[in-house]
Amino acid sequence: MKPKAAAVKTLTTGGKLVYLYKKKLGSVPKCGDCKAVKLHGITPARPKELMSMTKRLKTVSRCYGGSRCHKCVRDRIIRAFLIEEQKIVVRVLRAQQAAKK
Ligand SMILES: [Zn+2]
Repeated sequence: MKPKAAAVKTLTTGGKLVYLYKKKLGSVPKCGDCKAVKLHGITPARPKELMSMTKRLKTVSRCYGGSRCHKCVRDRIIRAFLIEEQKIVVRVLRAQQAAKK
């Protein structure tokens, strides 16, 4: 029998030489935006294990928790805020020009 890549030879207590099949290791999810940062507070697991895990183990209690890192969420919030501010500035300038005429 040809062993699979993840097999390890071991002696059993009965003295038999057997193959032990190691399961694939789960990976820690990375941030979807910067793709470099491993997300903290998330248990590494295979997809099928994830199905039976509680939400507590798969996410952190933040917007985009378990999907984006804290820096990227911060950037998103600041970007959204600045866009809204810019809209207000444009509205105020238009109102001032209309008042002059
Ligand atoms: Zn990120």
